[in-house]
Amino acid sequence: MTNHIYPWQKNDWQQLQNYVAQNRVPQALLINGALGIGKQHLAEQFAHALLCEHPTAEGFSCGKCSRCLLVKAETHPDFMDIKPEEIGKNITIAQIRTLIEKLSLKPQFERYRIVLIHPADALNNAAANAFLKYLEEPTERTVLILVTHRMNKLPATIKSRCQKFTMAMPDKNLVLPWLFQQTNNTEVIFNLAQGSPLLAQQYATDEHFTQRRDCFNAFLAIAKQQSHPVIIAEQWLKLPEATLLFWLSSWVIDLMRYRHQSTPKNLYHADFKRELSELSSHINSMKLYEFYDLLLQSRRRIETQINKQVLWEEILISWAMLNRSVL
Ligand SMILES: [Zn+2]
Repeated sequence: MTNHIYPWQKNDWQQLQNYVAQNRVPQALLINGALGIGKQHLAEQFAHALLCEHPTAEGFSCGKCSRCLLVKAETHPDFMDIKPEEIGKNITIAQIRTLIEKLSLKPQFERYRIVLIHPADALNNAAANAFLKYLEEPTERTVLILVTHRMNKLPATIKSRCQKFTMAMPDKNLVLPWLFQQTNNTEVIFNLAQGSPLLAQQYATDEHFTQRRDCFNAFLAIAKQQSHPVIIAEQWLKLPEATLLFWLSSWVIDLMRYRHQSTPKNLYHADFKRELSELSSHINSMKLYEFYDLLLQSRRRIETQINKQVLWEEILISWAMLNRSVL
């Protein structure tokens, strides 16, 4: 197989090719699955292949025909890419109205016309409703490809009108060799990313690795009463809060694992084994669960307008207290 798709996507690609071979490409395809497994990439490859004049034997776009060149230049008239105008924002009704207007015209070429919508969960209510009307009466030779890792945020009415295409978590045996080309810490990173290859790829950067180590050292220093929580809280303001909260929660989960077993398997942070094991030996399990609850609540609170300094102080002071009570 060529380098058009990731090594763990062969079955997915085959399934998409079956639609083509049977001339049953769905009018609306909803590609879903976990974050960081390459859904968007697969959707793009499929779109390019449907637009290409001379696909390869494996069904990939040739990359050379006039249509492929238009795709590369981002000027293919029958390829529409709908995404939020800014990362993290919604797809608006204005964007969907413009799209529907274009779709009311005939496709420019004789092959498929493709609309890629990602992330589909970014459609706001008004946009979703407008889009739904179109789905009831779609235009000819038009394929809509929606991509999301948050199916629960998508209106049921939209889901029910799409052919669902669910990508499974990739097989570890296919991911590890791929990951190995990018990092030496393959196992650690794979576990840290909970099996998500593209997240792992991101985690494998030196910067991410160093930051995780630095933050863990600060976490340990607070436990040993060698650093002040308020000072660390201030330093952490510069870091992405979702990542920090994930690290904190996963350190706590690893600590809980050590409370239950002397040599737990599948640690998130296997490279911090020694420190985690030592720390767990003088922590109160009950208090650790309470602390974990606080972290879970904090995950919800970072989505609101909360003062981040206050949030980190609250978390780190609780962490300091938890450790003080047992020393
Ligand atoms: Zn081509």
